[in-house]
Amino acid sequence: MGRLVAIVGRPNVGKSTLFNRLTQTRTAIVDDTAGTTRDRQYGKVDWCGKEFSIVDTGGWVVNSEDIFESEINKQVHVAIEEADVIMFVVDATNGVTDLDDHVAEILRRSTKPVILVANKVDTNDWIYNIADFYALGLGEPFPVSASNGHGTGDLLDEVVKDLPQDDTEEDTLEKIPRFAIVGRPNAGKSSIINSFIGEGRNIVTDIAGTTRDSIYTRYNKFGFDFYLVDTAGIRKKAKVNEDIEYYSVIRSIRAIEAADVCILMIDATRGIESQDVSIFSLIQRNKKGLVVCVNKWDLVEDKSQKAIKTMEDAIRARFAPFTDFPIIFGSALTKQRIHKVLETAVEVNENRNRVVPTSQLNTYMQEVIAAYPPPANKGKYVKIKYVTMLKEQVIPTFVFFCNLPQWVKEPYRRYLENKIREKWNFTGSPVSIFMREK
Ligand code: GDP
Ligand code: GDP
Repeated sequence: MGRLVAIVGRPNVGKSTLFNRLTQTRTAIVDDTAGTTRDRQYGKVDWCGKEFSIVDTGGWVVNSEDIFESEINKQVHVAIEEADVIMFVVDATNGVTDLDDHVAEILRRSTKPVILVANKVDTNDWIYNIADFYALGLGEPFPVSASNGHGTGDLLDEVVKDLPQDDTEEDTLEKIPRFAIVGRPNAGKSSIINSFIGEGRNIVTDIAGTTRDSIYTRYNKFGFDFYLVDTAGIRKKAKVNEDIEYYSVIRSIRAIEAADVCILMIDATRGIESQDVSIFSLIQRNKKGLVVCVNKWDLVEDKSQKAIKTMEDAIRARFAPFTDFPIIFGSALTKQRIHKVLETAVEVNENRNRVVPTSQLNTYMQEVIAAYPPPANKGKYVKIKYVTMLKEQVIPTFVFFCNLPQWVKEPYRRYLENKIREKWNFTGSPVSIFMREK
């Protein structure tokens, strides 16, 4: 299951520099998802085989010195609520400030593990300054330099030590699909969950043998059998103003990471806004299946085919280049097409697990390549010899073997992907295309 580390602290202590430092290696090697927006605030770290996500909560707030205490309060409270480990960053060249004191006070009251990070310790000359930070009452400060990387290995060792280790819940889960309902505040997430589950809890069964608060609810009725990912963040109503981007984004991370397919709720009366796009980008970066549910359709007067088409085009335009996903217009309130949403999520999960036999794949792709071969580059011709679909991958992954893989550029890869999508049904699922030398 997803493990989440949140970076908090006042502006200019080096949070985003630290975030980049901790996530960059992984980003360079693994994050090959072409065309997706690279988040400045959310990334993955793999340290000694332990994987976790990291968010820079400061990335969402105005980065100025005269930041309001109330902004910091929200930032820290979201981190406490949603993260497994909190990295509290302070500036060793600056000493303890009032705002540091204020953050420390909130953190001391939480039960989550807090790692106090004294940043900007570029040389050992600064190491003596960090003693001041003991006064924050959060234990020993970790000296690091986000700029030059000094101390970050020890810091990661400490993070890994603090992350929850028990995977008992993972182990007790059945091999059935996991769906998450995500979307910005007020899109209708709780309403649709209620309309699935209803008032009676008789159709859902709690998962036995779990130590932590389970986030999975099993749903087996009406021919369906799946887990609904229901995180505390989605279940609980916010105590602070929810209409802040980082709030809904951080709350979505857990659910998205725990799911196979995400049902992204969009409020029909508001259309697509930047928060929807941020959540969409989290779904893409985690390579999860996608169903878009345009909710509150009961409130929309013009339900003509033309209006539907306009809305669909607008959504696909904002999520481009990934456009091959289903969009369902419905209402959590009147339950119109709610069943359809679930059916579609089941289909997307099937698409995400689809296997194309090698011979079929090659016969068809040879035609596709012959019809439009890769463009020659500086007089060199790319010859694609054959293609295979890799086994045991998280998403459908195709490897094309050719003489000059480095010459095959993004537009041609996209052409191949589109042809694969036209021929076999991968709707709602990401698809990976790789070129390898042969
Ligand atoms: P944030 O507002 O907390 O995200 O801080 P930033 O990451 O934007 O950094 C604020 C300033 O501190 C920038 O000018 C950084 O270059 C600088 N900075 C960050 N980390 C270090 C560090 O380890 N050493 C030094 N000397 N400067 C740093
Ligand atoms: P959440 O914040 O995403 O969980 O959104 P809620 O489920 O709490 O819904 C926010 C508001 O929108 C509530 O007042 C709901 O009653 C209302 N709402 C949700 N779905 C629909 C819908 O399909 N139609 C209408 N008319 N209202 C809805």
